[in-house]
Amino acid sequence: MSADFPNLTVVMHPLVQHKLTWLRSVDTNTDSFRNLLREVSQMLIYEATRDLPTELLTITTPITQMDSPVISGKKLCIVSILRAGNGMVDGVLALLPLARVGHIGLYRDPETLEPVEYYFKVPADIAERQVIVVDPMLATGNSAVAAIDRIKESGCPSIKLISLLAAPEGVANMLRQHPDVPIVTASLDSHLNDHGYIVPGLGDAGDRIYGTV
Ligand code: URA
Repeated sequence: MSADFPNLTVVMHPLVQHKLTWLRSVDTNTDSFRNLLREVSQMLIYEATRDLPTELLTITTPITQMDSPVISGKKLCIVSILRAGNGMVDGVLALLPLARVGHIGLYRDPETLEPVEYYFKVPADIAERQVIVVDPMLATGNSAVAAIDRIKESGCPSIKLISLLAAPEGVANMLRQHPDVPIVTASLDSHLNDHGYIVPGLGDAGDRIYGTV
């Protein structure tokens, strides 16, 4: 947990930090960027699911019978904030193959930096699920806040957010608007520039995933 932000966990594992360096580098091509993002997403979801409840199941090993833990409790739903969130979905599903996946389409108005919704599709039973929102860049936090507003309107009491990078402005915004939502990230970067980009950041995550630079 971060000292300044009780809602934030920064995953300092060397594998995460190493891969993040190459995600940031302007010399990393689209194919490598996608693969690295998928790999780091697996590690972030590993951390974000650390507190999933377990129960004991009686099984038989080739040697003996034992009571062994399996995940219990609510089923999971991943919600991707389009379009960059989709770059994290495959990595998350690699560890949570039975999770449902919802999508929220929000774009940032380039003038106001405020989110505008154009798509919303989540499972009908989302209120009974633990939701993990994925968006690689927590910049102003306006998109994440708006997405989580919508998910809460669907009756969902239990939500987390995983982002590859976070700006202090975005984490503070989330702490103000959704203090109950824990955030897991690979880095708390320095600040936002005048265009709302994270510094040092990695540029536009969607463009880097889809090669639309
Ligand atoms: N979205 C991005 O893709 N990159 C940023 O730096 C900020 C928002």
